[in-house]
Amino acid sequence: MESRFFVLNDTEELQTSDRHISSLHFESSRTLFEEIRASINNSDEEDHSFWRPVLPWGGGLTIKAGRKAVSCIPLYVRIHLKNTCTIDGFLMILYVILRDNQCFCRELAVFLGKDFVEKFLHLMDSCNYTQVKLLWILDRMSKRQYRSEVHHAALEIDLFGNEHENFTENLENLMSTTQESLCSNWNCPTRFQDLIKTTISISPPHELPQRDPIQTAVDEYFCSKLIHCSELGCNGLRELSQRAFFYSPPPFVVLNMQQWKSEELSYVPYHLALCRHRYLLEGATLFNKEEQHYSAAFQIDGCWMHYDGLRTDNLILLHKPPELLLLSSLVYVRAPDR
Ligand SMILES: [Zn+2]
Repeated sequence: MESRFFVLNDTEELQTSDRHISSLHFESSRTLFEEIRASINNSDEEDHSFWRPVLPWGGGLTIKAGRKAVSCIPLYVRIHLKNTCTIDGFLMILYVILRDNQCFCRELAVFLGKDFVEKFLHLMDSCNYTQVKLLWILDRMSKRQYRSEVHHAALEIDLFGNEHENFTENLENLMSTTQESLCSNWNCPTRFQDLIKTTISISPPHELPQRDPIQTAVDEYFCSKLIHCSELGCNGLRELSQRAFFYSPPPFVVLNMQQWKSEELSYVPYHLALCRHRYLLEGATLFNKEEQHYSAAFQIDGCWMHYDGLRTDNLILLHKPPELLLLSSLVYVRAPDR
């Protein structure tokens, strides 16, 4: 059934529909990022929300069936997106990072493709929010990561799940790190191992240090160590080398913070040393356990904002940390070389 909708991958079709939708929007020479930045500077004491919603939760789009779907009746199909908060917050943060650091676009293009990066920025700037989510889903996600069903000639894509699976794991090798290890036992079945991880998930230190538990956890993640070998029947000691980025230190990193309790997170550092590079806090994604819902916070020019796709005013200035939310991730950007 889904093969009928291959038309979505047709670049020509996506572009035609882009032009149609962007003509409905307010024509502006400013990027969405510049619009948000201008709103921050013009906002008065009373009004902490923005002039229009950005990236609303969910999404809907009617597409014209193309040549490949000529046998498809009706000729127009509807696409519904559900539970998109597992990608929305990260897409907002990714957009802000790329627009605020133009030089990162080329670096990210090495991993995600130049075409993807250009399309992503164009769709965000022209407020084609459903298309930008579809671009992520079809270009970056694998089919096993979401559910899709056809209801009355409408395709429904449901992204309910974990945001690290739906977003972070689809960043290719951007954050890949490698750690070599050698077991002291000559008879160990896999004496030498090269452990590659594509995401960075840090756990709280066993004993919480006096200061900066996050920096301590990151240091522990990257440092060399000696552990008991976990190979079955082996009682050797395994020496792990320092962990290093597979490629160069990435323009930004996402730290998976799901293992941390809120009491362990009383202090979140603005500066982070990572593999001999300096990183600066850019944003965070947050999880509401009761509603099973993700939102995000990020900064522009030092002003912090909270984005929640489900709210009517979905982007607001933040004067204190959002309450009742668990930290799902921290996003740091690489500081410019001094
Ligand atoms: Zn061993």
